[in-house]
Amino acid sequence: MPIFEYKCKSCGEEFEKLVFGNPEIKCPKCESSDVMKKFSVFGMSGVDKPFAGQGGGCSSCGSSGSACSSCG
Ligand SMILES: [Zn+2]
Repeated sequence: MPIFEYKCKSCGEEFEKLVFGNPEIKCPKCESSDVMKKFSVFGMSGVDKPFAGQGGGCSSCGSSGSACSSCG
């Protein structure tokens, strides 16, 4: 769900808004449209999960990784 953070340049109010399409964003406090968009914090964690079963290898062809793409 696209939630963006905005900051009003006029009064400094910070607010979040669900954005669908390209609506006009106005400050909920002073109704100024002079707002700047901040980056959404969604999906910014960047944490990689370690592969499950890493180090097992394929027993048929010896390829590394549990999901062998060489011999199926
Ligand atoms: Zn404002």
